[in-house]
Amino acid sequence: MQIIDLRSDTVTKPSKEMFLAMMNAELGDDVFNEDPTTNELEKFVADLFGKEAALFCSSGTMTNQIAIKVHTQAGDELLCDVNSHIYNYEGGGISFNSGVQAKLITGNEGRLSAELIEPCINGNFDWLTNTSLVCLENTINRAGGSYYSCHQIKPIYDLCQAQGLKLHLDGARIFNALIESNDSPKQIGQYFDSISVCLSKGLGAPVGSLLVGEKEFIKKARRIRKVFGGGMRQSGILAAAGLYALKNNIKRLKEDHLRAKALEKILLTMPYVDSVLPVYTNIIIFNLKKDKISGLDFEKKLLDEQIKISSFGKQTIRMVTHLDFTEEMLLKTIEILIKIQ
Ligand SMILES: *Cc1c(COP(=O)(O)O)cnc(C)c1O
Repeated sequence: MQIIDLRSDTVTKPSKEMFLAMMNAELGDDVFNEDPTTNELEKFVADLFGKEAALFCSSGTMTNQIAIKVHTQAGDELLCDVNSHIYNYEGGGISFNSGVQAKLITGNEGRLSAELIEPCINGNFDWLTNTSLVCLENTINRAGGSYYSCHQIKPIYDLCQAQGLKLHLDGARIFNALIESNDSPKQIGQYFDSISVCLSKGLGAPVGSLLVGEKEFIKKARRIRKVFGGGMRQSGILAAAGLYALKNNIKRLKEDHLRAKALEKILLTMPYVDSVLPVYTNIIIFNLKKDKISGLDFEKKLLDEQIKISSFGKQTIRMVTHLDFTEEMLLKTIEILIKIQ
């Protein structure tokens, strides 16, 4: 039996067609700006979001960390949600790379608002930390894949404009958000100074993220990428996979969301499940009843049935649907979830 892997949407492998695109990519040295496929990918993504330029990097951590570095000075403060990836899962990079501290805000399912942000902006006094950047995440990983629509972002943008703050979006799963909100990439692009977009999450590419912004910003970002050791040479081989993913794998994200919804529905009826965070996109986070089963035991039981999931705290489980999780696998997973009760 084939293993069903629901630990993350990063576990997908390139399809035959994607491999073919990679094999046929025109290549050059991207540190000299001479890799035609990387240049094409950067232009494609910049145009998509209505921005002047983009920069291809090896990971979403790198694109986020470069953005923070360019937007801030050492000693500054940025504002983000308490569950945000940049704060929790980037190895302390905010302070390590940029000498910046984070002021954490508790959002509504991870979503910040102008009302929540405004009181956290420091006034202009010598003894207060200089607030220079607001970071949003869309979709929001630790909040169960919740998302912002453009009408929720506009007031945050207005506030940042009025207060002279930069606004960055960690859009690791931006297309999952856009599929549900029905906003276009350009609509959301207009509100941010920079956006990080991942190709290796729901889109199924093996590696890569892009940082999108205006020319001057990307020029600085390119220098920081080199400082961070992230300059790549014949990166077109990876960029080709990214182009393939963007041209073929966005629309189908809706299928992942429907399969996640189906899993939510069944979990809500299971006697060992205490609660399920509302499922909005492709992430399912649920809590197990303490007196029924622990997270680790649940993980083991599913593994015995060839299903991989990740426990996310003692009683909490996360499952993520993706390109390589088929309808057949969904039915099998539902069968096992019912069987183990
Ligand atoms: C995965 C992810 C990233 C980037 O992670 P990398 O593994 O460094 O590519 C950034 N933000 C969020 C919300 C993510 O889920």
